[in-house]
Amino acid sequence: MKIYALQKLFHSELEDIYGSSEVSSIFNLLSEHFLKIKRLQLALNPDLKIESPQIDSIFAALNDLKNHKPIQYVLGETEFYGLPFKVNPEVLIPRPETEELVDFILSSLRKSGNKAGELSILDIGTGSGCIAVSLAYHLPEAKIYALDVSNGALAMSKINASLNNVDITFIEGDILDARGLNEKIGDLTFDVIVSNPPYVRNSEKKKMKPNVLDFEPHLALFVEDDNPLLFYKANCEFTLNYLKDGGSLLMEINEYLGVQMEELLSGFGFSSIELKKDIFGKDRIIKGIKASTN
Ligand code: GLN
Repeated sequence: MKIYALQKLFHSELEDIYGSSEVSSIFNLLSEHFLKIKRLQLALNPDLKIESPQIDSIFAALNDLKNHKPIQYVLGETEFYGLPFKVNPEVLIPRPETEELVDFILSSLRKSGNKAGELSILDIGTGSGCIAVSLAYHLPEAKIYALDVSNGALAMSKINASLNNVDITFIEGDILDARGLNEKIGDLTFDVIVSNPPYVRNSEKKKMKPNVLDFEPHLALFVEDDNPLLFYKANCEFTLNYLKDGGSLLMEINEYLGVQMEELLSGFGFSSIELKKDIFGKDRIIKGIKASTN
């Protein structure tokens, strides 16, 4: 089949779901991935013939996309904060708002004048490892730890650490199991604790699209409506023992729960609490400093 005809087929099959410009960029991504053809070459060679086995992979991708499978899972990869990441349905697809979190952490650290070589940083619920790996990449001297309850997620985040040549200590553990965690963390303490825990309330599901609902791991996304801050409470509890005095806690949050998050952090005695909006003007990041206990 000629590439031009294939491109037309993609548009006719997928435009209803994705819209024309999104289909064009999906097609470019697939051509790069399966055919190693760049966008320009594609336009210059409309008669290029695509044969087996590549054509079979592209048809399989078309079918997945018709079923709303996210392009990142179809390709098995994505980009986050300028770095390559492998993804599969065991991990959440890294989001642009989480890039803003990483950016905020890096700029906060620059401002505080901490020496990266002395920093130890823990990412709670690392998933694909996007936060931990990006921090490790930009703070090569820091000691980075990443925790997750999911074996599948840890396997993926380890792959991403080696893909980006960074050194991270991975810990399998459940932030909701304080005692189990005590045994694993021992006497480590951290200067910075970061987390993007599950925060979407079940009642918000009706606003979500099938690409998220049917494919992304619910374990990483959803919380019960009657206890939406479950993971944030656990993170705060954890800081009591494991965040150094003067250390900071930085988390991505549910846009509707900014005020409750401020209250939670002040209830735990955090100072200099900052609530930060994302590029869409929604409350998305919270930061607090652990007050000195003596
Ligand atoms: N921002 C993600 C979404 O809206 C949710 C991420 C999370 O629950 N931590 O799909």
